[in-house]
Amino acid sequence: MAELLIRGARVIDPFQNLDGVLDVAISRGRVSEVGRGLSTESREVLEAEGLVLAPGFLDMHVHLRDPGREDEETLESGLKAAVRGGFTAVCCMPNTDPPLDNAALVEDLVLRSRGLGLADLFPVGCLTRGREGKELAEMGLMYASAARVRAFSDDGDAVADSGLMRRALQYVRKFGGVVISHPEDVDLSRGGQVNEGRVSFTLGLRGIPALAEEVMVARDILLAEETGARLHLTHLSTAGSVRLLREAKERGVRVTADATPHHLVLSERDIRDYDTVYKVNPPLRTPEDVSELRRALADGTLDAVATDHAPHSPEEKEREFDYAPFGMVGMESAFPVLYTELVEKGELELPVLIERLTLGPARAVGLEPPDYGEGIRAGARADLVLLDTAREWVIDAHAFASRGRNCPFHGWRVRGRVLMTIKGGKVVHYATEWGRAHPRGEKVSEKA
Ligand SMILES: [Zn+2]
Repeated sequence: MAELLIRGARVIDPFQNLDGVLDVAISRGRVSEVGRGLSTESREVLEAEGLVLAPGFLDMHVHLRDPGREDEETLESGLKAAVRGGFTAVCCMPNTDPPLDNAALVEDLVLRSRGLGLADLFPVGCLTRGREGKELAEMGLMYASAARVRAFSDDGDAVADSGLMRRALQYVRKFGGVVISHPEDVDLSRGGQVNEGRVSFTLGLRGIPALAEEVMVARDILLAEETGARLHLTHLSTAGSVRLLREAKERGVRVTADATPHHLVLSERDIRDYDTVYKVNPPLRTPEDVSELRRALADGTLDAVATDHAPHSPEEKEREFDYAPFGMVGMESAFPVLYTELVEKGELELPVLIERLTLGPARAVGLEPPDYGEGIRAGARADLVLLDTAREWVIDAHAFASRGRNCPFHGWRVRGRVLMTIKGGKVVHYATEWGRAHPRGEKVSEKA
């Protein structure tokens, strides 16, 4: 295969603090040369002036529904959705059926993912056996397995038992693992459908108070502080959570956190006509919460953006609001939505957004080279994403590779397109409407 030369893109690489117009050559799956005015001899040239080249993104929180609900998503449809969103690595949550609570299950998933040649898969293991919240799962064995599990969570549910959560933190500390907390006190949130406040009263739906999240954020920060273990708080949604996180970081607690694109972009005011596409847990909060999350993302209090991609079958999602499941799909809309709403509107610099989609989440879940994050330098594995920040397009959930159609951004006119995703030197996603010649003439999985 001829070498590929991506010429003249703005290369933004948070792993090396690099931001400049450069040529990048790719050969045998790796970056072979980075520099200016690189030779075009015996190289296939991709003219990329005006485009942005970045390390492939990492989504540290997705639900792939495999095993158990392959009607909603499969490993293949989920990882196709990932590369179409620019993600060359994803961490999948263990709330599958059966739950990912042992070495054999996580190894099987990783093995199957490798056969697909799309994005790298790093399963998150269960904290407790069967996600039952009663006794610790075999975390040490999952860590030592071929799946190399680094992060553990009962996501979908919080660990209600504080003693058990403390033991989990003590245990992962021994081998340098990370506990991912889904912060929710179910005694405060039970039966809730939307944020507790104006909108829940207007719609006559039971509310989930901000406190349901903040009580658990506070508890888990205290437990992390006492045990010295690494804690990651996922899908934070309230200004109060951000305040607790900020204070904890100032005290030197080993805590990181993420927010989702939907909590950074939508508020409870966007919920219209009992449309269940907006039903998500934690719920969409107030515009004030959204502003605080944005501030925290910009100043680094929030380390990462994670999509919490959660596909559901239309039959289930289109029930009455009270009975519909929580969740939205997000991998294929994340970059354009964040670019349009945060970068274009001047609230976030593009290199910062890219950092929160690469280095930030990698640090939070403890992923290091060679697993993820070699950056764009000679010798690094060529896991890259090519972005067109000028391109305007309309998000069409029906054209998603994901089996999930429950996307609140369907129909949105956005700017910022993932033109190409390269994994191990191979083009695994290519936006066919791009209008430029495909550099390799390869058949790429692009439906619609
Ligand atoms: Zn969760």
